[in-house]
Amino acid sequence: VSSRDFHPNDSIIKTNHSIIGGNHFIFMAGPDSIESAEHVLEMGRQVKAAGATILRGGAFKPRTSPYSFQGNGEVGLKAHRAAADELGMDMITEILDTRDVDLVDSYTDIFQVGTRNMQNFALLKALGQKRKPVVLKRGMSATIDDLLNAAEYIAAGGNMQIMLMERGIRTYDNKYTRNTIDVSAIPVLQSLTHYPVIADASHAAGVAKFVTPLALAATAAGSQGLMTEIHDDPAHAFVDGAQALTPEAFSQLADKVRKIHDIV
Ligand code: PEP
Repeated sequence: VSSRDFHPNDSIIKTNHSIIGGNHFIFMAGPDSIESAEHVLEMGRQVKAAGATILRGGAFKPRTSPYSFQGNGEVGLKAHRAAADELGMDMITEILDTRDVDLVDSYTDIFQVGTRNMQNFALLKALGQKRKPVVLKRGMSATIDDLLNAAEYIAAGGNMQIMLMERGIRTYDNKYTRNTIDVSAIPVLQSLTHYPVIADASHAAGVAKFVTPLALAATAAGSQGLMTEIHDDPAHAFVDGAQALTPEAFSQLADKVRKIHDIV
């Protein structure tokens, strides 16, 4: 059911504050993790001013090391929800565990499945039972077909509100960038499926100064939106400060991206 053969037109996903897919372009932005209620509200205010309609932030963090900050859990979800409501934005947050599906569902507008869970089939099946949008990030070593099959696990349950996200894959060089953004995946996925395809240049780059060029490249390749991490004090961010743009830099990125999107 994910194939364009069965659904020639682009799928359009509507949330309270966003229209995603087709010729629409959306910005999802915010901190990597929810640090405090005040912080997520202020970051939300700044990304909204730059044009974002979806506020991102992790309350459950999939850290490479078990000793790194794991997120603020439900306290973070509450703060995130309050900020999104106050600002009139949609909320997106990552779900790591099938046991948390109902909890996260009670707060979020959009579920995010991260790269490490792309083939967590139990989680995908559980999200397939919901009737709420899911952003499915490409596994860092997943092929295009792996990603499409993972999406099919959600769709098979009857939840067709799926967005696919290219966030960089593992290649032989990860010294200068964290991952390699596969810009070719964007038009290829769009030719194979009707779901919106969005790019995350932050996790692809891993380094703030490369986020804007990669975001522009993804937009030129036809991405229907961007996820971007921002922080007002990147050096002290709880998670992934190295790849966080300042709110000012994000605003400049958004201006450039809109120009590119207008011509593609
Ligand atoms: C994130 O967006 O917070 C995240 C952990 O991303 P990824 O799953 O792409 O690493």
